[in-house]
Amino acid sequence: MSLRKFVSTVGVLSAIALPTVFVGAGAAEAAPAINATTITYNLTGAPNYASAIRTGVSRWGTLRNVKFQETTGRANLTYRQGNYSGGSYYTGNGHGTGNIYLDIRQMGQYDHVRVAAHETGHDLGLPDHYSGPCSELMSGGGPGPSCTNSYPNANEVARADANFRFAATEAELNRTVVVRGY
Ligand SMILES: [Zn+2]
Repeated sequence: MSLRKFVSTVGVLSAIALPTVFVGAGAAEAAPAINATTITYNLTGAPNYASAIRTGVSRWGTLRNVKFQETTGRANLTYRQGNYSGGSYYTGNGHGTGNIYLDIRQMGQYDHVRVAAHETGHDLGLPDHYSGPCSELMSGGGPGPSCTNSYPNANEVARADANFRFAATEAELNRTVVVRGY
């Protein structure tokens, strides 16, 4: 089964329709991306953290090239909770399609929204950077449990947006990325 079918694009407009919307830098900044990838997500497998997941996902709301949409049905991205020996982790293609496993024991130590936002970052193609500061979302557990920042910094937002700037390649759709630990 191809992974391609699970990643959809929306808002495909003809070039003819564009000019009036995208005139001027200010207008371009505010306008939604014309080929934004919609990542549907299903959090019914992680009921303890539903609220935290929704908030964590919303932390990526400033992306221009990706939009998230919650569903209770088939989804590009699923969140599950359980007891995982290696802590929370992500598996997927790192390009919108994947599964996030939230380790209940680890969630007891760390800020739920930050963990959810961080793991979501892996689905956007961002790797861990544990040596980074708390202001960096992908530093994960590096700064320790006292770090509760759940917002990606400007660089992380830019990198995630860049990953989805163009239509996904076959390699991006078919690869398997596993990122263990928060
Ligand atoms: Zn991570």
